[in-house]
Amino acid sequence: MPTEADTHYDPSLGNKFIFVTGGVMSGLGKGITAASTGRLLKNAGFDVTAVKIDPYLNVDAGTMNPFQHGEVYVLEDGGEVDLDLGNYERFLGIEMTSDHNITTGKTYQHVIEKERAGDYLGKTVQIIPHITDDIKRRVREAAEGSDVCIVEVGGTVGDIEGMPYLEALRQFAHEEPEENVLFVHVTLVPYSKNGEQKTKPTQHSVKEVRSIGLQPDVIVGRCETELEPATKEKIALFCDIPTDAVFSNPDVDDVYHVPLMVEDEGLDQYVLEHFGLAEEALPAGERANEWREVVTTDKEGEVDVALVGKYDLEDAYMSIHESLKHAGFELGVDVNVHWVDADEMADHHRERLRESDAVIVPGGFGMRGTEGKIDAVQYAREHDVPFLGLCLGFQMAVVEYARNVLGLEGAHSAEMDAETPHPVIDILPEQYEVEDLGGTMRLGGHTTVIEPETLAYELYGDTSCNERHRHRYEVNPEYFEQFEDEALVFSGTAGNRMEILELEDHPYFLGTQFHPEYSSRPGHPSPPFLGLVEAALEARDADANEHEVTH
Ligand code: GLN
Repeated sequence: MPTEADTHYDPSLGNKFIFVTGGVMSGLGKGITAASTGRLLKNAGFDVTAVKIDPYLNVDAGTMNPFQHGEVYVLEDGGEVDLDLGNYERFLGIEMTSDHNITTGKTYQHVIEKERAGDYLGKTVQIIPHITDDIKRRVREAAEGSDVCIVEVGGTVGDIEGMPYLEALRQFAHEEPEENVLFVHVTLVPYSKNGEQKTKPTQHSVKEVRSIGLQPDVIVGRCETELEPATKEKIALFCDIPTDAVFSNPDVDDVYHVPLMVEDEGLDQYVLEHFGLAEEALPAGERANEWREVVTTDKEGEVDVALVGKYDLEDAYMSIHESLKHAGFELGVDVNVHWVDADEMADHHRERLRESDAVIVPGGFGMRGTEGKIDAVQYAREHDVPFLGLCLGFQMAVVEYARNVLGLEGAHSAEMDAETPHPVIDILPEQYEVEDLGGTMRLGGHTTVIEPETLAYELYGDTSCNERHRHRYEVNPEYFEQFEDEALVFSGTAGNRMEILELEDHPYFLGTQFHPEYSSRPGHPSPPFLGLVEAALEARDADANEHEVTH
């Protein structure tokens, strides 16, 4: 039985493109719908990639506030990109590059640089054709080597910022044979007060799409439930597409079930037929089915994990939430994540820590919330609660240990306290001269050497690992020896850099300077997360036993 999709790019098929736009409002999950369709095409044997277009003027997502845009996702090549790329990587099981996130900042910067270099000499440089040509070039280049490329345009049709992209995609489709391009429009189908599915918002939004010269081939209606046949017919009639090109996208409990729903609806089959790929696809019985097996694992029981962060917003820590789910799939357990406000480590928050089976302190920047994070580390360390510290969480674990075990009073990270007498976390030497904030951190995949006979070695099962980074500060080498004299061990290093820490006298206490959450996938959970959830399960069971004995 095939497990993980075994795809191969077949150049003779020619690149196919799925252009995905959104209507009515943003946040409908069009990226998940697109990624799910892509996953099914991959299961059918095709090589699938994706491009996310973000029509903002930022060059990349690196300087953006997670509260507005959700987490900054980090790619292997160091690209700091929109979190949707994380979904594409997780759903398609691929590794993308920065070139797969097109932003207005990147496009304009490139065109303006070319103008200054004199490349357009004599010409007036304009949005059409110069910006649109650059967009088309980027889409073509990103699609190279794949059978199908999904191109998702962020925002909603009608946004001023998105116009050059829609025009570029219109031209692109004009230049390609018809069967190579499929336009998918994802809209909202709300219920009226008297329980009727309303198609007017969809009609208006498709009207808007058509006014800029695009005609959707497929319409996907996001709705609380499945679209009724009458609703589909109405949408088909007013939006001028066949009824069988209208698909439902009802609410599901878990985003990982969306591919199963898309399959039931037959959207993948429709896409294959449109592209003339139905014949090339693996027969239904031979398609990879690992995904379905993984995401429908039976769950027995649950564990509670406290996430001590600054933002009460799931998207701000999306990859962490996903990594915990992946570990939950593997271990057959539901992982409930409880946000604990790092900024206000009041008693009721401490109560949350007490009620949890594990604690995570995630990455972050700046002073706000750091004392609360240090408090949480201390609680986990002293009470034998399984702990995972990620990047800033790793750094705060070092600070906590320095202050409370080594007795280095006032120890801190130089990022938070430039005057600290003990800068146990200090700026990376290569950052001394760096002034710009965009794209200048230590970014992307780097190798960590792992010490044998350590927890890290047990988790990774190897003497090295490659994980993604995003930081400007690190453990100050002047303090290594003081730490290692006690129970703290730096079990992962990269030359002079401390990458992983663990405590010898604790059930599970691990910190990583890198971000393992970016490489966790359903079916391939990240080792530090898997270890944490396993330890949480043990802690929960031990608690339950103790409870039985005392009662
Ligand atoms: N602010 C810290 C640094 O720059 C940690 C970064 C992070 O958590 N991603 O090193």
